[in-house]
Amino acid sequence: MPLPRTPIPAQWLFPGIIFRGDARGNAVYLTFDDGPDPQATAFVLQTLAAHNAEATFFAVGENAQKYPQLLEQIAAGGHCLGNHTMKHLNGFHTPLRQYLADTEHCRLALAPNPAYRPLFRPPYGRITPAQYLRLRRQYRVVLWDVIAEDYRTDWHAEACLQKLKKQTRRGSVIVFHDSARCLPMLRQVLPAYMEFLGSCGLQSKSLDQI
Ligand SMILES: [Zn+2]
Repeated sequence: MPLPRTPIPAQWLFPGIIFRGDARGNAVYLTFDDGPDPQATAFVLQTLAAHNAEATFFAVGENAQKYPQLLEQIAAGGHCLGNHTMKHLNGFHTPLRQYLADTEHCRLALAPNPAYRPLFRPPYGRITPAQYLRLRRQYRVVLWDVIAEDYRTDWHAEACLQKLKKQTRRGSVIVFHDSARCLPMLRQVLPAYMEFLGSCGLQSKSLDQI
């Protein structure tokens, strides 16, 4: 689960990190972190298919190893897979060597899948300069400019949806979570949000097109 807001200092500390795509087109970039999960990922895939939308799934390697058939469904749906570490590590609390080894372990778990791309999202949005400088050699590191906060238990779906509608712009990178914990919120918010995107003429693309 990432931080509730884009870590603003990261925008000048890490100039190569992607927060958002081109604001001139009609694309936005839906992303789903922490999966795959049997119920949540299946629900997300169905919802995306119903709207002819593409997205990027930042998978946790341990979950990917448990549910290889879900990775195949992600690929079959025309989506992308990115690296979210093997064990969902917090970069601020993890030594460089361990962080890089865990990320490589995740890459090895995902790379056989044709949907895999060298995209990396640090769990919690937390990455140190040293970690970033090493990983940028190999990955495009992607944070976000809009986060659904679908993991919060202290607010309602309507508030979540209103926030998403207010913050989404052309080129936005939006974070959701395809995890069991977030599924109740996703069920209420994601279909309505997809309708909203359509009504604005916005289309979700996978991050390899950013
Ligand atoms: Zn995460």
